[in-house]
Amino acid sequence: AVRVRFAPSPTGGLHLGGLRTALFNFLLAKRTGGTFILRIEDTDKARCIPGAVESMISTLSWAGLDYDEGPGKNMHYGSCYQSERIEIYKHYIDRLLKDGNAYRCFCSPERLHQVRTLAQKNGKGVAYDRHCLYLSQSEIDENLSQGVPFTIRLKMPDGIVTVRDLVYGNVEFNEKHIDDAILLKSDGYPTYHLANVIDDHLMGITHVLRGEEWLPSTPKHVVLYKTLNWSMPEFVHLPLLLNPDKSKLSKRSGDVKVEDFAKKGYLPEALINFVALLGWSPPGSRNDVFTLSELISKVFVYQGFKISVWRRLILSQFSLDHVGRSGGIVSHDKLDFLNKHHIFIKSESPQGLTQLVSMLKPLVEGKYRKCLELTNEDYKLEDGYLALVIKTIIKRIQNIHDIPELCGYFFVDPDYSSSESMEVRTEISNDSLKSVASIALEQIKALDEIEFEEDKIKEIVHSVVTSTGIKKPKVMTIMRYIFTGIKIGAGVAGTMKTIGKEASLRRINKVLE
Ligand code: GLU
Repeated sequence: AVRVRFAPSPTGGLHLGGLRTALFNFLLAKRTGGTFILRIEDTDKARCIPGAVESMISTLSWAGLDYDEGPGKNMHYGSCYQSERIEIYKHYIDRLLKDGNAYRCFCSPERLHQVRTLAQKNGKGVAYDRHCLYLSQSEIDENLSQGVPFTIRLKMPDGIVTVRDLVYGNVEFNEKHIDDAILLKSDGYPTYHLANVIDDHLMGITHVLRGEEWLPSTPKHVVLYKTLNWSMPEFVHLPLLLNPDKSKLSKRSGDVKVEDFAKKGYLPEALINFVALLGWSPPGSRNDVFTLSELISKVFVYQGFKISVWRRLILSQFSLDHVGRSGGIVSHDKLDFLNKHHIFIKSESPQGLTQLVSMLKPLVEGKYRKCLELTNEDYKLEDGYLALVIKTIIKRIQNIHDIPELCGYFFVDPDYSSSESMEVRTEISNDSLKSVASIALEQIKALDEIEFEEDKIKEIVHSVVTSTGIKKPKVMTIMRYIFTGIKIGAGVAGTMKTIGKEASLRRINKVLE
């Protein structure tokens, strides 16, 4: 059975790239009935940030990527926090030392610095000169008895190391370019390489899916697997994420934290869809909008579990031409497009609409509470009303945040003295405003509260057109001005119905004043 893991280091919040890695692991597990594991790689104490694990977990759950094994859940393989597995790593270090596959390095940071500088000057790929590999047993004993701090290094074999990757194919690494990796630091903590390989093995990981930036580390892992005589998982490296100018997406490019996208009003469905498309494109389909369950059934399509078939499919689905060109380009326009569609999909189901309402409520209350309390004492912000607003405006927004920002007229009467309103007003003559407003006023008054429905309201618009002789588009502009104070917005009839008869009358009276 497939067992995959997402193995973040808790050094900050989850980024887009991490979300994509987690998603592909999740999709493969769900597609195959496998297990998705969350493992916390927290052995670099200096870089760990308090609260990062909790924030990672809540972001994953916000995105709908629940793990099967991980913090607080079904751990059958001991702790999922690497910092709690130190003894396990030490055990394997002893074995590697005993078998002569690893060695103690007593070199001081100063010496290592010198060696590295020299290597760089000579254009050498490998920085460490293996000084300590050649220490005699008595030199080692002497250092140990004097308490000289040491690290443990992996002895890299001679020759080429080939990494078999399901996306990149066979990638060869010349041993001349691979350092004898440090496996255990002088503080007794393992490095990423050691802990990662041991845990992947002990946790029965079948597929390692991670970002392309880890590909250069993989030959070290391959050597470790071979040295320890363990069978290797399949490696699947996902292409880098790029900015639209093809530069590497990094924290410095801003806008990469998943939490920030959530705060800006992007739906988890949209962000998941978005990161899925960074590296994967739906074969033979023009449609880009997918829900999580559609992604589960589409991304990892393969028959049985024949790797060759799977590889071919992955190869055809990831854009892989060249490493340099293969990255997924992060385009915010695309994200906005997807967000718009997912908001629409959500609004179509009762639970989805309820979720949208609960997203919208604090935003509206935050922005308009003061005005609402001051101007409309009898006004209550009801969920039903918010749902109606969402339905009315849904086709015109990309983001739930657009509603309080661009459609304040649903919540407070327009401020006709604002510069935006004044500008619209200059396009309307006093006479036409007066005649449209007074005819509309009479007609609306004549309608019962329950008759105040879109069809009836459309009839009103129609009769305003016939009795004033003003062209329909002009009438619409005037009516939109009356009810919203602005030039562009939701349909006039829909807006009037949503704000209701009373508010409609109030706004007409205001402009007639
Ligand atoms: N701890 C690594 C990270 O932060 C994990 C890389 C891997 O999946 O092997 O991304």
